[in-house]
Amino acid sequence: MIIDGKKASAALREELKEKVSKLKSTYNTVPGLTVILVGEDPPSKIYVKNKEKSAVEVGINSEVIHYPDNIEEKVVLDKIKELNKNDKVSGILVQLPLPKHIDKRKVIETIDPSKDVDGLHPVNVGNLSSGYDSTIPCTPMGCYLLIKNTEKNLNGKHAVIIGRSNLNGKPMTQLLLKENCTVTITHSKTKDLKAECKRADIIVAAVGKPKLVKADWVKKDAIVIDVGINKTDSGLVGDVDFDEVSKIAKAITPVPGGVGPMTIACLLSNTVECFKRARSN
Ligand code: NAP
Repeated sequence: MIIDGKKASAALREELKEKVSKLKSTYNTVPGLTVILVGEDPPSKIYVKNKEKSAVEVGINSEVIHYPDNIEEKVVLDKIKELNKNDKVSGILVQLPLPKHIDKRKVIETIDPSKDVDGLHPVNVGNLSSGYDSTIPCTPMGCYLLIKNTEKNLNGKHAVIIGRSNLNGKPMTQLLLKENCTVTITHSKTKDLKAECKRADIIVAAVGKPKLVKADWVKKDAIVIDVGINKTDSGLVGDVDFDEVSKIAKAITPVPGGVGPMTIACLLSNTVECFKRARSN
């Protein structure tokens, strides 16, 4: 089974469109998402454009603040502080990566946790790992929804996560632990990655290495989620050797058209949730 991320994302966005329309009639206003982009990194510019387009489609107010590469860190931090106080802004996202002279940690920690739609603020990270309500990073949330669409009961499943980044691997671990999976998190220093993967009922690959996961790493009937986006001479490929692994896995996400579309839908969902939480307090 090929897991269709585009279809799942379209369904989620349709649901959000209805939610936003109801919120509009209740509060006479709609959620607002502000994205801060620094510099001219081409992939970042494409991501931001797609986020803006999708936000508008579901009825979310979208604003992009674009600074040049050499902008002072203080200008960015002051803008975030201003947005924190603005009632019209439900969610703030600072597109990563940032230029080297801007401290990513300072930027993330300046965002009000209740507006942190990327779920990267330590308050949200801590809440997630404590099992409390929190804003969950968009890509792992998208992976989680795709896994749950494929298999409802994950009790006791053995999940192997490849990659331990704050953005993907670590939050993915927390989400699957909450579902009672036994989770192994692996990384570049893992001794025998193939052996670890071979034991997995669920593999989530978030590495950034084209076709790293081979067919003989995968147990028959495993669910394989490919987060990787790698540009190669033969086009965009994931971290999984899709052609070979798809013959063995029970379900697998393609690249493109798998996790990617879910990331944006989950960002919009986080924006709507932040709007709702701000009004329920
Ligand atoms: P990252 O911060 O660079 O982390 C990569 C992780 O992979 C690290 O933990 C690293 O281990 C591990 N790793 C590297 N080489 C390895 C190897 N040979 N074997 C096992 N583990 C290895 O990357 P990221 O931000 O999580 O992104 C991962 C991939 O997902 C990238 O391709 C990125 O473009 C893609 N991505 C996709 C979406 C989407 O919407 N689909 C969103 C975000 C990112 P160490 O910790 O030991 O260095």
